Amino acid sequence: MSEKTVEIIIICGVTLFWILIVATLIWVGYRIAKAFKSHPKPLAESKVFSADDARFMRMAIDIANRNVDSGGGPFGAVIVRGGEVIATGANRVVAMYDPTAHAEVSAIREACQKLGTFKLDGCTVYSSCEPCPMCLSALYWAGVERICYGNTKADAKRIKFDDSFIYDQLALDYNRRSIRCEHFLRDEALGTFRKWETKEDKVAY
Ligand SMILES: [Zn+2]
Repeated sequence: MSEKTVEIIIICGVTLFWILIVATLIWVGYRIAKAFKSHPKPLAESKVFSADDARFMRMAIDIANRNVDSGGGPFGAVIVRGGEVIATGANRVVAMYDPTAHAEVSAIREACQKLGTFKLDGCTVYSSCEPCPMCLSALYWAGVERICYGNTKADAKRIKFDDSFIYDQLALDYNRRSIRCEHFLRDEALGTFRKWETKEDKVAY
């Protein structure tokens, strides 16, 4: 092998090495940026809140405390409109054999039943803990105006109520999620949507 060939091989090797280093750094940077994007910074704790806010939050915390005493999970929620308590809820997952019976969902159900509506416009929800993805979605569906919480989801994770994996799952493609998702019979299912679209007396929501 000539000296020139050896020199070319060394130059190629060194170039390839640096390309690999740069590509690795770009990839690591991309993963870090993506991780930060999927885990936004938690909301900073408010230093200013009204006396009513404090009163309703303490009510939610008290519900959570009493729920622990009676064998339930450490979560409570209060729904308020115009300064008036519309409904309260405690975590009843164990007692009701219902994985959806979180404090906020229980309070939403009670409030909607009481008001005879499926929309909670103008309502504020005080939750002893930051809502999980299910409750947060339910609060959006209910159309509440404001969400206030005491404990953060990081606090909940520390006592083994970890919902961060659900946020992580939602960000993944279907084929990478831990629950297998399959999609079929769309044409038949679309029939229901066509029926809904043409229904004259539907209640839109
Ligand atoms: Zn929840």
